[in-house]
Amino acid sequence: MTRVLGVEGTAWAASAAFYDTETDSFTIETDPYVPESGGIHPREAAEHMQEAIPAVVADVLESMDGPPDAVAFSRGPGLGPCLRICGTAARSLALSFDVPLVGVNHMVAHAEVGRDQSGFTDPVCLNTSGANAHVLALRRGRYRILGETMDTGVGNAIDKFTRHLGWSHPGGPKVERRAKDGEYHDLPYVVKGMDFSFSGIMSAAKDAVDDGVPVEDVCAGLQETIFAMLTEVAERALSLTGTDELVLGGGVGQNERLREMLASMCEQRGADFYAPEPRFLRDNAGMIAVLGA
Ligand code: ATP
Repeated sequence: MTRVLGVEGTAWAASAAFYDTETDSFTIETDPYVPESGGIHPREAAEHMQEAIPAVVADVLESMDGPPDAVAFSRGPGLGPCLRICGTAARSLALSFDVPLVGVNHMVAHAEVGRDQSGFTDPVCLNTSGANAHVLALRRGRYRILGETMDTGVGNAIDKFTRHLGWSHPGGPKVERRAKDGEYHDLPYVVKGMDFSFSGIMSAAKDAVDDGVPVEDVCAGLQETIFAMLTEVAERALSLTGTDELVLGGGVGQNERLREMLASMCEQRGADFYAPEPRFLRDNAGMIAVLGA
């Protein structure tokens, strides 16, 4: 039996979680940093961590019926000022409970939470988070990177487009809503081998809005283009590895259109597709506790 207290604090989510491997149950408390304007400011995000982490940890401790067996925390990658606060909080907790401190990789946690829940053995994992985009394959206990973004992360690319429109952060859910009322607008499609690039699409999307194309149409084109690129590379990774299991991870994975495209691609090739529920896709301490366990 392992009872893990997880702490996440790489960027916007001050989050704590308690995960009991025996009952497979979670308590997750998250306090998000929402910038007043623009994108995530590292100093403001760190100030948020400083205030919010003690509170979310206190809430999770209250829900526990005894001490944890270990404390797990996001060791990186992330914003330096936030990581220092997250690491300090986790170290203090491990010392006070006198239990092991386990530092975990935030990106592996995005992939591993779905793999763990799906029970898949050697899946391809598509990570679609804010600051990253990777296609990974699990082989003999190690993740190999098969493809990745050549420039900006997928969520950050969408957020940069919405910032240009003056919309508040995060932009992803707003693009998803507006795309429902739009007609497809053609944008550059950039897949190079197993890698993809988003910055040119962002510039073209911004230009299209500035040139008077209805914003709903640009949102629809943006989603179709970016998600088709991710789906194409994920499919090629399944073909390359001979695997018939695909797992989704990362906050952009909350998007219903992306899930639909991946599910339909997998169905066509007879592969199994697993997408965790949204609370395990966006940054959260539950995934940190799972990887720590
Ligand atoms: P990383 O985990 O790579 O360090 P992060 O912490 O910013 O980056 P996540 O918390 O996994 O990443 O995801 C946040 C991103 O998800 C934001 O860019 C946000 O716009 C995007 N997002 C959230 N909901 C949706 C949605 N419904 N559709 C598309 N994107 C979305």
